[in-house]
Order: sequence, then structure tokens, then C-alpha cells
Amino acid sequence: MVEHSARAIVPKSFAVWLVVLLVSLGCVQAQTPTPPVPAFDGASALEHVRKLVAIGPRVAGTPGATKARDYITAQMKALGLTVDEQAFEAATPAGPTKMVNLRVAIPGGDGRSQAPSTGSGQGRLIIAGHYDTKRFREFTFVGANDGGSSTAFLIELARVLKVRTNALPIEILFLDGEEAVVEWQGTDHTYGSRHYVDAARKAGTLGHIRALVLVDMIGDRDLRISRESNSTPWLTDIIWTTAKRLKRPEFLERETPIEDDHLRFLEAGVPAVDIIDLDYPAWHTADDTLDKVSAESLQVVGDVLLAALPDIEKRLVKP
Ligand SMILES: [Zn+2]
Repeated sequence: MVEHSARAIVPKSFAVWLVVLLVSLGCVQAQTPTPPVPAFDGASALEHVRKLVAIGPRVAGTPGATKARDYITAQMKALGLTVDEQAFEAATPAGPTKMVNLRVAIPGGDGRSQAPSTGSGQGRLIIAGHYDTKRFREFTFVGANDGGSSTAFLIELARVLKVRTNALPIEILFLDGEEAVVEWQGTDHTYGSRHYVDAARKAGTLGHIRALVLVDMIGDRDLRISRESNSTPWLTDIIWTTAKRLKRPEFLERETPIEDDHLRFLEAGVPAVDIIDLDYPAWHTADDTLDKVSAESLQVVGDVLLAALPDIEKRLVKP
């Protein structure tokens, strides 16, 4: 009797245990189909700035620029992303100069990658920055913040966006030739963005560019980003409202007009915003070195942009 009862109880409790196990396994499975999106890592971004500065000057059309492209390409490859080179010859006051924009396509939520040169009806969001540094003959200019911070930021952002569920395809665009070859006047500046927009216009694909977010000089330790007054108001508003929500005092309410790569897109009718801190004493001097840039500043811009992205996507994706 005791023995019989014992035998009857053991299989019953085993069955209960099995059901509990299967149910809990099911729960675990149901909760883990998508890995969590990693946060933007300002320290990693600063490491990329360090590597870029170690290359030295990265002036358009020089071996330094080629080395910068090699570094970016290696980083993208390590993430499993493909770099599409958009090479062109720019007519500059110093003569024809070979320049190259780098385009990296990150798929939208449906998982289908959009080829950079084509484009779906849904279009794409471009997040861009320049990787060239300004040429100075009198001193060595390594552009830690001006050229370095935007490049490093985009490399780190690509790592996050690669695993994020993006509402529409995102193109990470590393622009060449933002800096003037001689002096910022006429067309002696923004060569990469001008070529990019012209190429899209000629290909009839301008309409596929839904919006542009430009970052430039976002690594200054003393980060103070004013609203850029040429930028598209709704894009600026989303980013500054997000910064306010995240309690980031680095995004100031004051407004300043700044000429940058985003103007070429705005002229073509593409909504665009420039996130730039031109309030930088080391700007275009030999002092634009690694010690002026901080992981914290890169982190702030990364956090704000990633938090603003869902609202930007909502505006761009038609239901
Ligand atoms: Zn500059």
C-alpha cells in the first residue's frame, strides 16, 4: 500500500514537473526572439577617434584619406556591413582631386537590405558626417573633433543600427571633401555632398532620400549644440524635444545658421538637420587634438539621436 502509493505519486509529480518545464521553456522562447538593441557606446566611439587621429591628416585626395577609408571599411566589414564606394573627381581651386564617399546600407525592419544606388518606394533615411580633414600647410592638423568625431560616431552608430529594428532602411554616409581646399567660398567646400545629391538627381532617385541627419564636430568636451537655423524645423524639433526629455543641457535653445553638407540636401528639397557644435576654440587649429574630445560628449549625441529615431521614423514611414 505504501509502496503502491509511492509509485503512483512519483509519475504524477514527474508529469507536473514536465509540464512546468515545458511551459517555462515556451515562455523563455517567446521572450527572446529579438536580442536587445545595444546602447551607443561613447567609449568605443572615442577609440575610433583615437585610431583616426593616429593616421594623421586625412585631407581629400591624399594617402591619409585612403587610410581613413581603409579603417572605416575594415570596421564595417567586421560588423558584417558592406561599403559602397562612390568615387568622383572634384574640380577644386588646386586642380582636379579624387574623392570618395562611403555608403553603408542598413536594412529596414523587414530585413531586406536596400541597395544604396536603387531605393524602394519606402525610401531611406541618411545619417551622414564628413571624414576628411582640412588641409593646412603651416601646421599638422589631425582634426580629432573636426572630421574625427563625426567619422567615429557613424562607425559606432552603425554597430547599433545593424541590430536595431529600423522602420525604414538607413544609409550611413561618410562624406569626403566637406572642407574647403583653399577658402570656404563659391563651390570650394561640401564636394562630397554636392556630388552625392547631383548623382541622385541624375539617376532620378532623389525622391528616395526621405531625410538627412548630419553630425559634425560632436565630440567637444565642452559640448554646446545650438539649433542650426537652416535645418528643417520638424527634424530639429524632434531632436531638441528628445534632448529635453533626456535632460541633456548640451542641446541649447539658441539658434545659429551654419553652412555645412546638409545645405546640398536642403537645396534639393530633402528635409535635413545639422547637429553641430561650432563653439569650439580649437576649430581649424593645431589644437584640435584627441584631448579636446570626450567619450561623454559622443555618448550624449548617440543617446539623443537613438532616442529621437522612432519619432523621426514615424514622420517618414507612411502607414
Ligand atoms: Zn572643418
